[in-house]
Amino acid sequence: MSASPTAIDWHARARALTIDGRPFIGGRRVDSVEGQSFDCISPIDGRVIGSVARGQATDIDAAVRSARAAFEDGRWSQRAPAARKRVLLNFAEKILAAKEELALLETLDMGKPIQYSLGVDVASTARCIAWYAEAVDKIYDEIAPTGPNALALIQREPMGVIGAIVPWNYPMIMSAWKLGPALAAGNSVVLKPSEKSPLTALRLAELALEAGLPEGVFNVVPGFGHEAGEALALHMDVDAIGFTGSTRVGRKMLDYAGRSNLKRVYNELGGKSAFLVFPDFDDLKRAAATVAGSMFFNQGESCNAPSRVLVHESIADEFVALLAAEAPQYQAGDPLNAKTVMGALVDEGQLRTVMGYIDSGRNEGARVVAGAEQARIDTGGYFVQPTIFDGVTPEMKIAREEIFGPVMSVLRFKDEAEAVSIANNSPYGLQASVWSSHIDRAHRVARALRAGTVHVNQYDEDDMTVPFGGYKQSGNGRDKSLHAFDKYTELKTTWLRINK
Ligand code: NAD
Repeated sequence: MSASPTAIDWHARARALTIDGRPFIGGRRVDSVEGQSFDCISPIDGRVIGSVARGQATDIDAAVRSARAAFEDGRWSQRAPAARKRVLLNFAEKILAAKEELALLETLDMGKPIQYSLGVDVASTARCIAWYAEAVDKIYDEIAPTGPNALALIQREPMGVIGAIVPWNYPMIMSAWKLGPALAAGNSVVLKPSEKSPLTALRLAELALEAGLPEGVFNVVPGFGHEAGEALALHMDVDAIGFTGSTRVGRKMLDYAGRSNLKRVYNELGGKSAFLVFPDFDDLKRAAATVAGSMFFNQGESCNAPSRVLVHESIADEFVALLAAEAPQYQAGDPLNAKTVMGALVDEGQLRTVMGYIDSGRNEGARVVAGAEQARIDTGGYFVQPTIFDGVTPEMKIAREEIFGPVMSVLRFKDEAEAVSIANNSPYGLQASVWSSHIDRAHRVARALRAGTVHVNQYDEDDMTVPFGGYKQSGNGRDKSLHAFDKYTELKTTWLRINK
């Protein structure tokens, strides 16, 4: 049995940790070809925690060759789905067995509270891998309803080599959302984690090997986006890119595909999700608690953070007071303290970006209801107070752009039509939420909102069974659920003639 998180001295464990930042290629740690590295800095205190390889095109090329060789000789791609299932279930078990180490690496690397690294990130990563393992031997292919002289089989085949490029906000979970369906379907993978959070991806590759995944099937090359990331997305022998990150870089992915081999590109991008509160909703306190919890979870560094709170003018003052009462419980704390609920922003650059948005909110005339200051400055880490702005108007920068920090904007609306219009007036369309006790209104507004997921009277439901992704510039394709297999498989039709 493992110890309770509060009983563990996480600081002592952190001091005892040794970091291996070398790429994982062909089933083992290797030195990067050109020998370059960068410092891995913890946002908790600004200290260097290790050295990580700065992968270049040469390393990516070695990883893609390894992945291709594994795919072509069928050591994984040709195994029966039930056999792949066994290995991946074992992989999920290994993740759980290493949960404290993985959680510690995640928290040190990107600043989230240890209780969530452990209870959310590690747990969801293992669940995702196990879910796709369980799914893959239960999916049947199709036979088309053709005439009597033919048989047309419609089958899914693994695509080949998948390049996965992921962000830093949920490093393990985002990796798992690509790895689960891609590996279960029989592909080989080259994963490029964010340069801001590369540590857990490297450990995942070692655990997968221990679980029985053949060498070369899962490779990890750490490095910067414009170097290793670009090389992977431009590689002529990569069949698809599963990308999660900003809309700015998502655009580049499409360009790289166009400039190289027209590889499939699946983009899971940014968001500016709207949370609509109507005066007929009968529990405003619960609505306020929910939006605060979802907004400040993960320091606001969530693609689906409900960062635009649209409230009917008749209840806005009351709702803002309820929000203000929620803020104190989300004060930033030491991420290695098991009771902390909000940790550090990922790095100094992100801290500057978030503080820049807070300045812009003030300068454009929004009213600070809570926070709006840096916190825990003496620690050397990158902390910001949970921040709420009232009096935000749709044209303000803080209402239009993804901030990716703990900053909530409250906007007021006059009627339903205006609420929907403000909510939809965004280049993003990841998620939205409607709060109304009126069943017609709830359905009407849910239908009118242009978002991949619409929540009604809640924001927290989440499950591997549902697709995750967005409309408009929030991306294309879907992670999670059986739909994710669409991204990593090709449909093949085989026609057979049947003679009389
Ligand atoms: P980012 O776009 O800066 O980086 C994402 C990844 O792309 C990193 O691995 C980075 O190294 C790489 N990269 C950067 N420039 C590159 C280039 N020129 N060529 C190739 N690769 C490149 O995003 P981020 O700051 O790491 O993450 C935050 C963003 O991710 C936010 O916009 C957030 O909304 C989004 N996100 C979306 C989802 C979703 O499911 N829709 C989930 C999590 C995060």
